[in-house]
Amino acid sequence: MPLYEFICRTCQREFEALVRHDEQAECPECLSRETERKLSLPGIPLVGSTAHAARPTDLPPCGPGCCRLPS
Ligand SMILES: [Zn+2]
Repeated sequence: MPLYEFICRTCQREFEALVRHDEQAECPECLSRETERKLSLPGIPLVGSTAHAARPTDLPPCGPGCCRLPS
């Protein structure tokens, strides 16, 4: 079973739990089942403005291979 990060809606505690994908984890703090699985898993590329923000600002905005670095 995969390890997921959860956040408890009742006490806002963040925790990790091994659950099947269709199950909700139980909060270890208040034993609530009102938990929410966090979607910010590592390795998933973010869409939108972050792709442009990651580009170095001192390089021309073109793809690799179509222009040379200033030397
Ligand atoms: Zn809780």
